[in-house]
Amino acid sequence: MKQHLVYIKTIGCQMNHYDSERMVQMLAPLNHLLTEDAEQADLILLNTCAIRAKAEQKVFSFLGRLRRLKQQHPDLIIGVGGCVAQQEGKRIFERAPHVDLVFGTHALFRLPELISKVREQRERICDITFSNTLEEPDLAGAGVRRTTAFVTIMRGCDNFCTYCVVPYVRGREMSRPSNVIIREIKSLVQNGVREVTLLGQNVNSYGKKGHIPCNFPELLKKANDIDGLKRIRFTTSHPKDLSDDLIEAIASLPKMCPHIHLPVQSGSDRILKRMNRGYTVKNYLKKVSKLKRAIPHVAITSDIIVGFPGETEEDFEATLALVQEVDYDSIFSFKYSDRPNAPSTRFRDKVSEKINQRRLEHLMRLQEEITRKKNNALVGATREVLVEGFSKNANSRLTGRTLCNRIINIEAMDSLLGQLVSARVEKAYKHCLMGSVVKIDQVKGNTHVT
Ligand code: SF4
Repeated sequence: MKQHLVYIKTIGCQMNHYDSERMVQMLAPLNHLLTEDAEQADLILLNTCAIRAKAEQKVFSFLGRLRRLKQQHPDLIIGVGGCVAQQEGKRIFERAPHVDLVFGTHALFRLPELISKVREQRERICDITFSNTLEEPDLAGAGVRRTTAFVTIMRGCDNFCTYCVVPYVRGREMSRPSNVIIREIKSLVQNGVREVTLLGQNVNSYGKKGHIPCNFPELLKKANDIDGLKRIRFTTSHPKDLSDDLIEAIASLPKMCPHIHLPVQSGSDRILKRMNRGYTVKNYLKKVSKLKRAIPHVAITSDIIVGFPGETEEDFEATLALVQEVDYDSIFSFKYSDRPNAPSTRFRDKVSEKINQRRLEHLMRLQEEITRKKNNALVGATREVLVEGFSKNANSRLTGRTLCNRIINIEAMDSLLGQLVSARVEKAYKHCLMGSVVKIDQVKGNTHVT
């Protein structure tokens, strides 16, 4: 069988990164090797994100750069998958005629046959058919060689927040069977993975639809029982579906990391209603209090949109007040942008770009102060760290995460890669910590190194 080189560019969320890994796993038996050099590849796949206008612009600018490569190598096959593919379908061929294949979110697992067809028939294919079942092959984490991994437990969403394209581009919510998920995690652990992050648009509603006799807290208990797995995280958690049982599971299961990403989006009830979020600020804060009571030192992070249509200064002030009250560990903040199909696109009372920008900067400054204060408070403390890899900024340093999901860089031997260590926090920065190892932990026994 001829050997092929595939280059994959991933834009967007962790779920897209997970899907890109699935592409690699599916194509490996067809003699496709992954390359990091697009110029060498005879297959280029772009896994796209449509959640914000900026991410979509990135897709077409990347495709524009591929035009020259296609002219130089007419046999090169270019495929576009993910949310933009689902949303735009054949229109992608009009904007980028050098693209050979468009495969939507539900066509991901038909990728090998679609590529073979394009190669054999030398004609363009667009497959954006939605299916009512999860046609997910059991790839069981094959070939993964690292310390942390994502595992998608469900796909799609039924919530229809008015600003969001996910229900339109990823389809309605479907959960994967718990036995398949557990098998995948076990296989990852056998391949060296120590920490998994369970992924879904709203993991809290895992198993609520279909015939899955397992809810999310029960799934966490099953994952917690896997030998060799050290840490469990999950994202994203919709506040309206955060149950007492889930809080109890995070508090009581030893492998659960004390961190929850709980997107609030706005601190104004009026805006939350227009967003169709299904909770009020009071409900949200009640759940935050429960989390803080049940899980000592819990880290809470969030997503916030500024400048949603109709957002007044008063609404924005309410968001700032909520950020201060919750005392988030960090937030992802975004300026609102119109998205195709999203109902809010039709709302008339848009906020100007100038005001959006000012609000975004104000919010970011506030959160930076909070994060810095929290990071500074950790100096001198010792924290468990899972060593994940080399620091991007200094290859001589290793990098990992604390249980609360803070990035910490440490000067240490390469042999600590994949180990749990106890590290003393020496310095705090805006986005990360610096530390030194005081003890190597469970994975290789309790060897003291300093
Ligand atoms: S919960 Fe709302 S924001 Fe999240 S994916 Fe579903 S529709 Fe989009």
